[in-house]
Amino acid sequence: MKALKSNRLHIGFFGKRNAGKSTLVNKIIGQELSIVSDTKGTTTDVNQKAMELLPIGPVMLLDTAGIDDIGELGKLRIEKSMKALLRCDVVVFVVDNSPIGKIEKEFIEKIKNNNSIIITVQNKTDLGEINKEDKEFLEKNSHAYLKTSGITKDNFIFEFKKALIKNLPEEYINPGVILKDIIKENEVCIFVIPIDKEAPKGRIILPQVNSIREMLDNNSITLVCNENNLDCALHKLKAPPKIVVVDSQAFKKVSSIVPDDIMLTSFSILFARLKGDIKSFYEGAKKLDNLNDNDKILVLESCSHHPVEDDIGRVKIPDLIRKYTNKNLIFEHFSGHDFPLDIERYSLIIHCGACMTTRGEVMRRILISKEKNIPITNYGIVIAKCTGILERAMKPVFNKD
Ligand code: SF4
Repeated sequence: MKALKSNRLHIGFFGKRNAGKSTLVNKIIGQELSIVSDTKGTTTDVNQKAMELLPIGPVMLLDTAGIDDIGELGKLRIEKSMKALLRCDVVVFVVDNSPIGKIEKEFIEKIKNNNSIIITVQNKTDLGEINKEDKEFLEKNSHAYLKTSGITKDNFIFEFKKALIKNLPEEYINPGVILKDIIKENEVCIFVIPIDKEAPKGRIILPQVNSIREMLDNNSITLVCNENNLDCALHKLKAPPKIVVVDSQAFKKVSSIVPDDIMLTSFSILFARLKGDIKSFYEGAKKLDNLNDNDKILVLESCSHHPVEDDIGRVKIPDLIRKYTNKNLIFEHFSGHDFPLDIERYSLIIHCGACMTTRGEVMRRILISKEKNIPITNYGIVIAKCTGILERAMKPVFNKD
C-alpha cells in the first residue's frame, strides 16, 4: 500500500543552476525524474517523486529550479523553489567547486530559518575541490557535509542515508500519537461523526480513519455514532466512556449532551496537536478577542478541494468569527502548499486540520508566523473558542502536554 504524502519525509534539492541537483536526485531514485543536461536551468519547476528509501521509509524527493535563476520567469521559478522550501524536512544544498557567493550565503540563512535538516553536498568532485574557506563555511552551516561526483563510482547513497538517519527530525523517529496517550487498552471512546453536506459520499475523512486505526492498534474500544444518536449510545453503555471525540462542527450540540465528568475534545484539536504546536494555536486564538474592523485573516487550507456550499474554511469559520467578534473582517484563502510570503498583512492566521500535509510543513509555517509576530491558530480551536467550549476541549490534551 502506498504511504500518504503527509506521512513522507520531504527531501528538497536546492542549489544554483547546473550544480547537479537533478543528477543527484536521479542517482538516488535510479531513474530519470528530471532531464539532466549541461545547459543551465533545465529544471524549471519543482519536480517531485515519491519513493521508498530503505531503511528510512517513504520519502518525497523535490527537485527544484536554480536559486540563481534569471529574468522574469526565473524570478517566478525562484519563488516556487522558496515555497517548496517550506515543505522540506531535509534540505540538500548542492554546490560544485565554484566559490561560494552572496546568493549561496543568503540561501543558507533562509534554510537556517526553515528549521530543516541541512545536508550540503559538494558535487562534481572530478572537477576539483571547493576552496578551504568555503568548505569550512558550508560545514559550519550544515548538519552533514558530503562529496560526490556524477561520473565516478562512490558510496554517496550509503553516506546520504547515514547522514539522514543521524539527523532525522524527532517526529520521524517517534511519530506523534493521536489519542493513545489519553486512552488505554480496553478503555472505551466514542467518536461522533456528523454526516452533513460536507461529509464525503460513502466514506469518512482521514482524521477519523486514522483515529479509529490507532484505537484498534492500541486495543482500545471505539464506538462510532453521529450527533443524533449519541445520547442513545451513552445510555446503552454500562459504564461511561473515557472520552468523546467529535467533529468540530457538532461540538456545541455534543457538549450539551456529554456530562461534564466525561472528557470531550475534537478530531481537529487532536490533529492540531499531532500536526502542529497546540500551545501556539491556543495562544493564537486569543487574538479573536482583539480584532478590529477591516482586519485581514489568512485561512490556510492544506489541500485544494472543491468548496461546497457551507464549506468549513470558506463559509462556516468566517461566519462564526464575524458573529463572535461582531467585526467586519476580510478573509483570504490559500490552498495546498501555497503560503504567502508577505504574511505581515494579516492580523491572524488560521490553519486547517492539515490532514493531507506533514507536521514539518505546519511547524515551519508556525515558525515563520512567530518570527513575524502574527498569531496563528487552527480550525478546531477557533470553532471551540467561538462556541464557548475551548477550555473543556483543550483539557484532555493539556493534561498530557
Ligand atoms: S483542507 Fe486541511 S483539514 Fe481539510 S481536508 Fe484538506 S488538508 Fe485536511
